[in-house]
Amino acid sequence: MEIQQLEFLKHLVRFKRHVYLDHNATTSVSSHVRRRMNHVLKYCYGNPSSLYGIARKSTEIIEEARQHVADAIQAEPGEIYFTGGATESNNAVLKSLSNYFYPKKKKIISTPIEHPSVINTLEFLKTQGIVVEYCPVDRQGRVLPAELEKLIDEETFLICCMLANNEIGTIQDIPAITKIAGQHEVLVLSDCVQALGKIPIDVHGWGIDYASFSAHKLYGPKGVGALYVKQGSPFAPFMHGGHQENNMRAGTESLHNIAGFGAACQDVNKLLDHTKQIRVLKRQFIQRLKKIKPDCVINSPEADCLPNTVSITFPHVNNAGLMAVFDYYGIAVSAGSACSAQEDKPSHTLKAIGLSDQAAKETIRVSLGCCTSARDIRYTTQVFQNYIEDRTMLVNMITPAQLNETILFDKQVYILDVRPQFLRRNLKSLPNSHEASFVAIEKYLHQLPKDKHILVVCQGGGLSYIVAYYLKSKGFEHVSNLLDGVAGWKVRRDDLYQKYAGQNVTVLQPAK
Ligand code: PMP
Repeated sequence: MEIQQLEFLKHLVRFKRHVYLDHNATTSVSSHVRRRMNHVLKYCYGNPSSLYGIARKSTEIIEEARQHVADAIQAEPGEIYFTGGATESNNAVLKSLSNYFYPKKKKIISTPIEHPSVINTLEFLKTQGIVVEYCPVDRQGRVLPAELEKLIDEETFLICCMLANNEIGTIQDIPAITKIAGQHEVLVLSDCVQALGKIPIDVHGWGIDYASFSAHKLYGPKGVGALYVKQGSPFAPFMHGGHQENNMRAGTESLHNIAGFGAACQDVNKLLDHTKQIRVLKRQFIQRLKKIKPDCVINSPEADCLPNTVSITFPHVNNAGLMAVFDYYGIAVSAGSACSAQEDKPSHTLKAIGLSDQAAKETIRVSLGCCTSARDIRYTTQVFQNYIEDRTMLVNMITPAQLNETILFDKQVYILDVRPQFLRRNLKSLPNSHEASFVAIEKYLHQLPKDKHILVVCQGGGLSYIVAYYLKSKGFEHVSNLLDGVAGWKVRRDDLYQKYAGQNVTVLQPAK
């Protein structure tokens, strides 16, 4: 076969393949959930707060879903409140309890590896007078209950500790933590988002006071979650309005989403059964990676870890480059939590377990799911091997030191800045650059010159890597990525930054 034909065939294979290994970010909606939601969307439109027949039918749907959620976590239906997602559930508990206890009691104890919906809420509460202390974790993200106990004092009203970590998969000893908390009359909130459907949960047996859940992590829809509040635990609504959710969460219920969440929870036992298979695939994956790159470091614990999650550091391999190559070959993995991905900075969880900034930038998270196959694992490790052996380097790299006036003012170089808006405020753009949005990059393709050398830049050199590979896949011949981004260039070439940054910048308009 002609070389060209072979290349074309390889291209076809690449475009057909789609390997999703980011189930901790979100999951696809299962067919069972989809059927249930379609039914509700089609036939059940009554407002549950009204009194007539079709409204009562809607109430019935909500109560049925509540029962399914309660069954999945060993709670009573009266202890479940539907919310707009786990971010809301976490906010609701942290703010409601702070309001309830302050100023009599002021302190919340948490961990440095919580999800941003907890950490950023705690940081906000600090500005309102709440004292927050973070209990350090060990190298694998474990909180030692005895260390946590040392932080408890008269002022403490809440311990907030996630059941399973979204980035490294570490499972905490929640029963030990609730036991200690109980001895000191302190309440416990546990973010159980990543655990539901992956490990059994028993909120009653474990003595948890509050727990948050999200449907989209277990093959349900996005934008719906639940809050478990143990019978008798203090709680006041932080959203005011109508009488929905037993006066605890105002706003007309998102009926189809709630029904979908209920259906997803009905499948929890099946999901738990399937984790045996996922565990085997994860083990095979790790073994293959270790063979290809023996110096890789597994950050996830071997025991007490989510069956589907592994965090791996590959020394001297930039994670943005690896993710970009994976993306080019249709493989989805992530560097840290999806909620912080666009910030392009090292993950707070990886730093809290002791990784340096450099090691955090060499780390990826892989999270397997229901539809992950042995073939997916083989394909992914093959792409990884090709990358490590330098067979998939399609994008040139320009270091901050190399980016001098000759390149900046070369008419043949087209500088494309893909930083999100909020980051542009921190640092000015390169001179002569063209600003476009990372998330809608396909809407800018028609304006990009195919005959020029495109230099893609972002804040830290991560997002731009992905865009550079994307442009390659769209037929742009000469594409480069600025290593370490505008931030790195400012550090290295502050003279040029001071002289030229922000000059002659064009804001591109996306296609309608
Ligand atoms: N907590 C954890 C541990 C999560 O992984 C997530 C989702 N990334 C959330 C909370 C937030 O959930 P939601 O997307 O429903 O707001």
